[in-house]
Amino acid sequence: MSWFVRKEKGINTPTEMKREAPDGLWYQCPNCKKIMHTREHKLNAYTCAHCNYHDKVGSEAYFELLFDHNEFIELDPELRSGDPLRFIDTKPYPDRIRSTMLKTGLKDAVRAAHGKMNDLDIVVACMDFNFIGGSMGSVVGEKIARAIDHSLAHRQPFLMISRSGGARMMEAGLSLMQMAKTSAKLALLSEAKVPYISLLTDPTTGGVTASYAMLGDFNISEPQALIGFAGPRVIRETIGKDLPKGFQSAEFVLEHGFLDFIVDRKELKDKLTSLLTMLR
Ligand SMILES: [Zn+2]
Repeated sequence: MSWFVRKEKGINTPTEMKREAPDGLWYQCPNCKKIMHTREHKLNAYTCAHCNYHDKVGSEAYFELLFDHNEFIELDPELRSGDPLRFIDTKPYPDRIRSTMLKTGLKDAVRAAHGKMNDLDIVVACMDFNFIGGSMGSVVGEKIARAIDHSLAHRQPFLMISRSGGARMMEAGLSLMQMAKTSAKLALLSEAKVPYISLLTDPTTGGVTASYAMLGDFNISEPQALIGFAGPRVIRETIGKDLPKGFQSAEFVLEHGFLDFIVDRKELKDKLTSLLTMLR
């Protein structure tokens, strides 16, 4: 039975010779586990064709989705975080910022830009969850405040897209001050009667929910998004009761009057356009 015996030892195929599908060609939905083509997924505004799961995307995707021909002018792109508290957890805060910048190619957890959306002028600030959990520190607060200043100066509607775990603990009290700062700026926008739309995406929690995310003339959300202040476990342990089914989902929050409507991401641009046209 000589054919069972391997005569030549160590026949290996180098990795680069192996025929495999290139990385990133297929997307597997984390919700229904079904597979779709990455390009199809992108064309579908990063939603699942099978179960409509809205994938967690960042500012790059939203800007491309909303701005005509993906043309926009970014506001304060170079603003970056200091380390006023000399904060160290598992590593010093400046090291964490630096490594996150390298990993994500972002400067902080929000990007703001102005441009045209279906020919309407608009200012959009969009959070990036990849940057330290989309946490709100001084840079996030300052960039949002300056974006609102731009809205106010040019009387262009302001859209805030939130996706955040809340305040940034490495900036402690300075993070919390951003809630007051952004809220005060939004009050000026309201006085000037410039529209503000807040889009809450999955997840929007903590100090972000407790400030600018809930202060829109319209508070809208993507389907199934988690929206809350504290997490379900903390609430359960505090009140000593089980929470109702679907608690803190966008649908639940809508039913209880905290949202105006839920919008499918594929219809976001058109819905926003009709809304802003009505408000003009
Ligand atoms: Zn799916």
